[in-house]
Amino acid sequence: MHSQNPVKRAYIGLGSNLADPRGQILKAFAELGKLPQTRLLSRSSLYRSAPVGYAGQPDFINAVAEIATALGAHELLASLLDMEHRHGRVREFRNAPRVLDLDILLYDDLSCHENGLTLPHPRMHERAFVLRPLHEIAPGRIIGGHGPVGECLEKCAGQRVERVEE
Ligand code: ADP
Ligand code: MG
Repeated sequence: MHSQNPVKRAYIGLGSNLADPRGQILKAFAELGKLPQTRLLSRSSLYRSAPVGYAGQPDFINAVAEIATALGAHELLASLLDMEHRHGRVREFRNAPRVLDLDILLYDDLSCHENGLTLPHPRMHERAFVLRPLHEIAPGRIIGGHGPVGECLEKCAGQRVERVEE
């Protein structure tokens, strides 16, 4: 990683429920590590979750990756949207099935709400499919404005999320 910019630690939420979801997520892990000025530090197991918001679609495979990056937050988001596009994602309607969804959950301790980017991710603290994999790799992490990952996860006890074999 050669850069003048400060290196930040970020957590990326991954989700897929179309076109070989496990394969999509495993490929995306590798691609995250190949983004410019970026290294993959760790990644969670894969989890299966029921769709949220629109029920008539397949279950999701979800995971979380931890990266070190010298990309700025907006540059990182642009790279992720580009990666979604390369995986063939088409935006149809809100909560529609998707080949690949990549969300920036946390970017260092940055709090922001501008130019199409909100950090921490505005719904992460209430979604077990984000919190379970995040808890696996960063159990003590604080979600700005919401507290430790483990406490947020306890409040999502009713949501079905199960770890799956790769
Ligand atoms: P969702 O992930 O909520 O299902 P989309 O993937 O379609 O929805 O994202 C819609 C838009 O959300 C993206 O184009 C992006 O500009 C915006 N967005 C805002 N904050 C974030 C974030 N932290 N991570 C990813 N996308 C974000
Ligand atoms: Mg998204």
